[in-house]
Amino acid sequence: MPNGGPDCCGNCVFNKAVQEMAHPHPDQRRRFWELSFCTLRQVKITNPFWTYCKNFHYGKSDIETMPPQQPRGGITASGLYEGYVRIPWHDAVEPEVSVPCTCLLCGRFTERGITLPLPDGVLGFCTNRHYVEWWNTQHPESCVDLGHFTPPEEYYKTREPSP
Ligand code: SF4
Ligand SMILES: [Zn+2]
Repeated sequence: MPNGGPDCCGNCVFNKAVQEMAHPHPDQRRRFWELSFCTLRQVKITNPFWTYCKNFHYGKSDIETMPPQQPRGGITASGLYEGYVRIPWHDAVEPEVSVPCTCLLCGRFTERGITLPLPDGVLGFCTNRHYVEWWNTQHPESCVDLGHFTPPEEYYKTREPSP
């Protein structure tokens, strides 16, 4: 089973799929994915084993006995692979990773970038770094440290050629 760390929605008590099934049994994987929904944040979780947040609580405890809680911080997704890194959702909008796009910041076209589907159109980014750089302009109150992410010049040195 793909797994981007144990502290993911796929193992969290607030995920409806975990509440109902505990684990994605091999013959019911599709049902686990269909049921995956965060009951704390009221959002669909499309990628349960690669999605995270600070409210994570392991396993199928009795949800009824859990103390009430508010969402803490935002949701993160696994970013483009440069070592495992996590990138923030844009509020309730999940970034899509490893898809073709042209970068809003630098104009680079890549077959494996990041897109963000917004009501006014889809934004594209060449790297985790440029996605987070843009994200920080939208969320100045909770800026993410850009030092965690590889600059495009370095990231593309060993990947597809520059346009
Ligand atoms: S978003 Fe957070 S609280 Fe919701 S299911 Fe995922 S890890 Fe749990
Ligand atoms: Zn870029």
